[in-house]
Amino acid sequence: MNTTLDFDNPEVAAAINPSAYGYHHGPIPNNNIGWRPTIDPKEAITTELNESPPVPPERMSGVNGLVCDIAVNGTQMCGTCCASQMALRRHIRQAHPGALENPSKANTGFEEKIAGENALKHWVLYLGWRQARYLHEPKNKISHESPIWRYADVCEMLASIDKGFKDKFGDTFHRQDAMSAPVTPQKRKNAAPATPKKPKNAAPAKTRSSSRRGRGKRMSSAHAKNSTLSDEVVDPNNDLDGEGADA
Ligand SMILES: [Zn+2]
Repeated sequence: MNTTLDFDNPEVAAAINPSAYGYHHGPIPNNNIGWRPTIDPKEAITTELNESPPVPPERMSGVNGLVCDIAVNGTQMCGTCCASQMALRRHIRQAHPGALENPSKANTGFEEKIAGENALKHWVLYLGWRQARYLHEPKNKISHESPIWRYADVCEMLASIDKGFKDKFGDTFHRQDAMSAPVTPQKRKNAAPATPKKPKNAAPAKTRSSSRRGRGKRMSSAHAKNSTLSDEVVDPNNDLDGEGADA
């Protein structure tokens, strides 16, 4: 899956989401917003309790990117990242009860695997992933086991060695300012802009000025020259962060 043709092909171009096997990525509508099984709020929502919401739920395929793509505000998605399919299902049951059908117990067949991989390649290659709106920014939290992460890596590698690929699709497939490794919350705040943009209120200003110092230190060598440019690039994303869970 490391050649141009593994991505730039008619099957990826025409891949649909949801496929016959359900959603491989979002936005996945939540048909049961506000519904919750009548249990003690401290109790976990089991698959059994999630079984019969008032409105038929959507189906999510097991071939997905390990990111919670349940729509929470129009097309804006949750963005919570999980390390396994089981953890993702558990998160969705607790945070968005009734949104999804419980997973089928059958093994994933090769047709579903192909449909899912094509849909996820499409999502990455045609910049759906990069441009998607998330409540909880997943750029530094997505599992490196996620096919989305792997495909974004491969596409950026292909763009660096294949001019035709780069001219057609661009050269950036990870979400802006994505790091190469999982980072601590402190490091994640390095996405703050270096431009002297006036903060909307007092609280984010603190965060921004402290993260600017962090960024300066970290980027003192190789990237220092480009810091102004890259800070401008990450600016809109940082604003998104501010509205979401990172605030
Ligand atoms: Zn979620």
